[in-house]
Amino acid sequence: MWRVARSLDALLGEVNAHAPRRNKASDGSIGDAAHATRSSDHNPWVVFGGQGIVRARDFTHDPANGLDCQDLANALASLIAVGGHPACRSGAYVIWRGRIYSFDRRHEGWRPYSGSNPHNHHLHLSVATDPAGFDSILPWGVFVDPKREERLGKLEASRKRKAKWQRWVKRANKNIARLKRLTK
Ligand SMILES: [Zn+2]
Repeated sequence: MWRVARSLDALLGEVNAHAPRRNKASDGSIGDAAHATRSSDHNPWVVFGGQGIVRARDFTHDPANGLDCQDLANALASLIAVGGHPACRSGAYVIWRGRIYSFDRRHEGWRPYSGSNPHNHHLHLSVATDPAGFDSILPWGVFVDPKREERLGKLEASRKRKAKWQRWVKRANKNIARLKRLTK
């Protein structure tokens, strides 16, 4: 019995929402034949609640269809650098284009990766070994949608205007009440 860590399902959801038409040829979670022959987080070696947990996922590089793994690698490394997501703590690492960035050696930054597959066409992500980390379903927020940011900005501005107006009305009512008292 095995299952994929919930944090990876959450990230997959965000990736697919961001790039719905992306190529998934090199995507994967559970160890395939190549992965099974060596130690890999694609194999469910962490057991939790009687189930083997797959703590790794591969994402296919497909910039033409919205998933640029260079951008994803940068975003994930920034999260891992500060443990910015519970899944990005001890045991977490990302491999992309011959380089690896891991939480446990984050002070070294990106360093050369010497595995047999340099990961030029897919990004590998392993998540934390702690259950609170690998099963965290907190949003990853690795994609910034400029239109959404703009909408949120406008919403925030209108909220501020409304609050200012409400404060003004409150003050005005108070003054009117005071005047009424004075002229009684
Ligand atoms: Zn992999």
